[in-house]
Amino acid sequence: MNPDTDTLNPQKEHEAEPAPATVEERDSMDFDVVIVGAGPAGLSAAIRLRQLAAEQDFELTVCVVEKGSEVGAHILSGAVLDPVALNELIPDWPERGAPLGQPGTDNRHWALDRKDLVAE
Ligand SMILES: Cc1cc2nc3c(=O)[nH]c(=O)nc-3n(C[C@H](O)[C@H](O)[C@H](O)COP(=O)(O)OP(=O)(O)OC[C@H]3O[C@@H](n4cnc5c(N)ncnc54)[C@H](O)[C@@H]3O)c2cc1C
Repeated sequence: MNPDTDTLNPQKEHEAEPAPATVEERDSMDFDVVIVGAGPAGLSAAIRLRQLAAEQDFELTVCVVEKGSEVGAHILSGAVLDPVALNELIPDWPERGAPLGQPGTDNRHWALDRKDLVAE
């Protein structure tokens, strides 16, 4: 018997642990729809589902699960937004005070070669 290797044996360690006295009870909540991820896709899906349900006077519970500490915590964005989807989803977003400050007035595409910026 080798005491060094015996203590590293996970099976033996497991056997040595006493069994838990009770299984911990977990909270649970029921939802009709669970959406994983509160990025633009998940949030749009949740909003649209709730809009459709409201239009048909149908009670629908929707849960969006986000692994970030809060909604938006994992957003990687240059914050340039084409509002075409927002216009469809929430047409009155300007009146509601969505924090979109500066409308784009011009659009130019540039390519970067080894020496210069080349306008396209
Ligand atoms: C550097 C960078 C800059 C960008 N700049 C712009 C820009 O200026 N304008 C623009 O329109 N687009 C920009 N984009 C693109 C834009 O970010 C994506 O098109 C958009 O985020 C895609 O949305 P999505 O909902 O599909 O995914 P995501 O935004 O990636 O959302 C997925 C969400 O799911 C969560 N998630 C993943 N797995 C789990 C899990 N198992 N459990 C719980 N939650 C989970 C993540 O935390 C995340 O919040 C940029 C992207 C990058 C990388």
